Amino acid sequence: LELSAIPMSMSEEEEPGLLLVMQDVTAIRRLEKMRSEFVANVSHELKTPVAAVKGFAETLLNGAMDDRETAQSFLTIIHDESDRLNRLIGDILELSKIESRRSPLQFSPVDLYAFLERITEFMSTEATKKNIELELQAEEELFIEADEDRLGQILLNLLQNGINYTPEGGKVKVKAEFVPGTDKEGLEDRVRITVSDTGIGIPRKDLPRIFERFYRVDKARSRSSGGTGLGLSIVKHLAELHHGTIRVESTVGVGSQFILELPLLQP
Ligand code: ADP
Repeated sequence: LELSAIPMSMSEEEEPGLLLVMQDVTAIRRLEKMRSEFVANVSHELKTPVAAVKGFAETLLNGAMDDRETAQSFLTIIHDESDRLNRLIGDILELSKIESRRSPLQFSPVDLYAFLERITEFMSTEATKKNIELELQAEEELFIEADEDRLGQILLNLLQNGINYTPEGGKVKVKAEFVPGTDKEGLEDRVRITVSDTGIGIPRKDLPRIFERFYRVDKARSRSSGGTGLGLSIVKHLAELHHGTIRVESTVGVGSQFILELPLLQP
């Protein structure tokens, strides 16, 4: 609680009084804390690849250039770390754009079957590279009101994660189905899109934090698969902007399921 006192008097003749204002600043403080934590995290995340680029460039300049093989491998690291920086900056800008509501969503009717076919087709090369089977099982005639680009971002992020965190020879599946509303719980008719994988899974203790910015179960693993730690927080924001929900179920060593529910477009 913050207390402030403002001297005031109603008229010349009256004794001056004090106006006391008591304000609950918990929410404001919490926001301030979250913001400064985010800035600290961003700086830390950006510093790591910059330090690598600088370090390897310096070593090259100090003579490592003369050995062709060493030079080749250092330059590859510099190249990969620059890619990483690019992805990080892209995701940070994306997140800030979504949070500041600077680019409102452009809603239009989306034929879910055709849409999911395009998305899985787009990811099929990535899956094949890891010998992962990518399966689509969707009901036809499912229409939702969505910003197609943003919905695409949600699905691409979930599929990319599914592929990243599933060993070679595994399976990633996208399923779309109609879920009728229930009067009792006041739920409307909706569609459920489930992205499931046969991957490494997520420990139970990490599940509640998985949608937080920069939260990773295994930093090294996320790094090596090119992750930024921001994908799922972007996904969650976008799901909410679509008036939808996203949740996760997972078993270590068996696989994960990300369940996205969106309102149905009423005919
Ligand atoms: P990242 O860029 O690290 O993948 P995300 O925000 O997309 O960041 O995901 C956060 C963390 O959640 C990941 O680092 C990983 O530990 C875990 N995760 C996300 N998707 C999966 C999945 N399909 N299987 C196992 N772990 C996952």
